[in-house]
Formats: sequence, C-alpha cells, structure tokens
Amino acid sequence: MDFQNTREFAKQLDSQDELAKYRDEFIFPQVNGKDVIYFTGNSLGLQPKSAKKYVDEIMNDWASLAVEGHFYADKPWWDYHERFCQPLSEIVGGKPTEVGVMNTLTVNLHLLMVSFYRPTQKKYKIICEEKAFPSDQYMFQSQIDFHSKNIGFNSKEALVEIKRREGEHNIRLEDVLSKIEEVGDELALVLIGGVNYYTGQVFDIKTITEAGHKVGAYVGWDLAHAAGNIELKLNEWGVDFAAWCSYKYMNSGPGNASGYFVHEMHHEDAELSRFGGWWGHNKERRFLMEPVFDPAKSADGWQISNLPILSLAPYLASVNMFAEIGMQKLIKKRNSITSYLEFVLHEIDKEIEGIKFEIITPSNQQERACQLSVYLHGQGKELFDYLMKKGVITDWREPNVIRLAPVPLYTSFEDMYEFGQILKQGICE
Ligand SMILES: *Cc1c(COP(=O)(O)O)cnc(C)c1O
Repeated sequence: MDFQNTREFAKQLDSQDELAKYRDEFIFPQVNGKDVIYFTGNSLGLQPKSAKKYVDEIMNDWASLAVEGHFYADKPWWDYHERFCQPLSEIVGGKPTEVGVMNTLTVNLHLLMVSFYRPTQKKYKIICEEKAFPSDQYMFQSQIDFHSKNIGFNSKEALVEIKRREGEHNIRLEDVLSKIEEVGDELALVLIGGVNYYTGQVFDIKTITEAGHKVGAYVGWDLAHAAGNIELKLNEWGVDFAAWCSYKYMNSGPGNASGYFVHEMHHEDAELSRFGGWWGHNKERRFLMEPVFDPAKSADGWQISNLPILSLAPYLASVNMFAEIGMQKLIKKRNSITSYLEFVLHEIDKEIEGIKFEIITPSNQQERACQLSVYLHGQGKELFDYLMKKGVITDWREPNVIRLAPVPLYTSFEDMYEFGQILKQGICE
C-alpha cells in the first residue's frame, strides 16, 4: 500500500481497522489532559478495563467464601490456572496440555533448566545470543557455576554467544546454525530470546530448534517479547520448552505471572529431573497427601506451589481478550501499523536537514514484529524527555536508541502520524 504522512490518511486507516474498537478496552495514562501515545507495551502493557472486574471477583469470593472459594467460587481457585491452557495454547501454538502459568519468567527458566540443562563433562555448553537480556545472562552464569563445581567442566568455556558481524545490528541465521554445528557434541542447550528485546529481531525458531536437535541438544526459548506478538507453533516446531512473562505484550500487570511450555514428548519421561511440589502432583490424587511425588503427565507436572489467584486474575482477563481476537488479526494489524510507523519516520527524516534516524530493527517483515528500535544520530536524551513531556511514552536505551512498539491492540494509525509531528517539533525546536 502507498502510505501518506497526513492526518486524513491515518484516520482513514483507523476507520478500516477492525481492531480499532479494542482501544476503548484499555486505560491510557493522561498527559496534559490527553491519552498518551503509548509505545512501551513491550515493557509494560496497558491495563485492560476488564482486569479490575476479574480481581474484584476474587476479592469478593475470598470475603464471602473464604476457604470454600477453593472449590465453590464461580471460578474455583484449585484449578483456576487451567483456564489459561486453551487460550495460551492458541497464542503459542501448543496443545492445552503443554502450557501453563506459574511463578515469574526467570524463575521458570531456571526451573526448566533443572530438567533441560543437565551438563556432563563432555556435553555442557549453552548457546545464547550476544547481549542477551541481562536476567538471562545472570541465569546462564549462575547455572553454569552451579553445575561446574560438581561436574568439573571449564565454566569459562561453557557459555557460547552468537555474535553480530562487525558493523551489523542483527544476528544472521547462518551464523547461529554454523555455531551450533561447530559446538556439536559439546552442546547441551540452546536458549535464545525469540524476539531480541533491544533490536526487535525475530529469530527463526523452527530452523534453530531443528539444528539444535540434530547435534543432540535441547532447545528452549525465552519468549518474553514474542508471546502475544509473533506467530508461534511451539508444538509443531518441536521446541523442548519455553517461558514468557505476561506483563509485556500480554497486558497482565506489573511483574505478573509467567506462562510456560513443555513439549508433550517430555511429559512421561521419568529420566528428566525436576523439582517437585504438590501442585505438580497427579491431579486426581493431589489432595490425598501421599508421601511420594508422582508428577502429572502434562506441563502441570512442572508446577510446584498452589497459585497466586489474585495475580492470575488480571492475566486471565487479558488472555480471554486475546482468545476472542486471535493472533492472526493481531499480526495483520501489527504488520501494517509497524510499516506505517517506519514510513512516518522516513518521511520526517527526509523533511529535516542533517538528521538521520537509523532503524536497527530488520526491515524485512519475516524478521521483525511489533517494535522498531531507532538510532537517533545527532540527538540526545533531551529529545526523549521532550517526547515524554508531550505525552509520547517511549523507551530510551543508551547511547541513543529509542524503542517504539506500536501495539496493535490499542495504538492507532493516527497516533503514528501525531508522533511524527511531535518528533519533528522536538528536533526543530
Ligand atoms: C523482560 C524480560 C525478562 C524479565 O524477566 P523477569 O523474570 O520477568 O523479571 C527476561 N528475559 C527477557 C528476554 C526479557 O525481555
């Protein structure tokens, strides 16, 4: 489509957008008496209006039923988490028995590594991407440290990072694949962020997973920036395990519970080690208080504790909204609104002398999703502060990159146009 950088054109796109009505389902912060232009749904999604109702329901059931709420609430608490299985399975392309919610993201990745990172003296290496999200880096370091002391492998050689080529912003698939082959037999685990948090690059999960399996490694994915954002087929692609936080694109609220996936091929594998707890026990027999752990033969077998129902409530509100819409429509709008934002940035770039926005996110739609990371050559943090003052919420990363995520559920094409105008003023003033 030929885009135009005018308000009329943006409004016309909004009027043709079948997801436009969902904007009203969210609460926007206000600046100068107006809804902000919100680009940070990749960091903390906006609050769905329905979230409060879901939380109130739990508060009311707790008040009126107390302990009886476990079994007699409208949505009983003892199996509340099972309400996530169907909608989450659709979002990540797994079977309902392969997904669940529990804990938080880094905690879940650690717990999944209990099963899927079992290094030996010969097979102990982990492949990840260069400059992985810091929490993932600390996780790798501590896992390696934890095992190397007992097993006696060289902990300094255990983590293998895939680097960007000199002068390039993104990692090439061919470099991931050749590194996997090179590490070969020594490779125990590949664990990469499905969408890079900094550049917005989308990795080819299917191809990388196959390559990891070929050398006998497990392959897991940190889907923090992928869940609710890109098309996923975790079951079909044979991914061993994955986890994601829910407070980014999934709009569940600050620090909220993580979703996780364990492929069905592992559900009955008695050789896999894992950490037990009563919520992972065979469901029919959970309340018999038996002395020996008998893990459920589904992703539930990785559960540990009974669940924080109050925190799951707003997550369920959000997941139900995703289920109603479906990922296909979200992805379609995501592609058009991200392309429109890219167009607006290029137009502004042409209008202003001596300024250059360098979009470091891949321009190819197969390799990007709902995020453009923009290098603002010649501009500093004052521009970011100016945008904030004008009600545009973006994310700033040193040295001078802003990350813009036009979330398809609640941003409009007119927001993109308006943003371009404010950006231009900010630079010219
Ligand atoms: C946001 C994010 C996290 C956050 O981890 P928490 O355990 O939820 O604090 C981890 N990894 C990646 C790649 C992220 O983008």
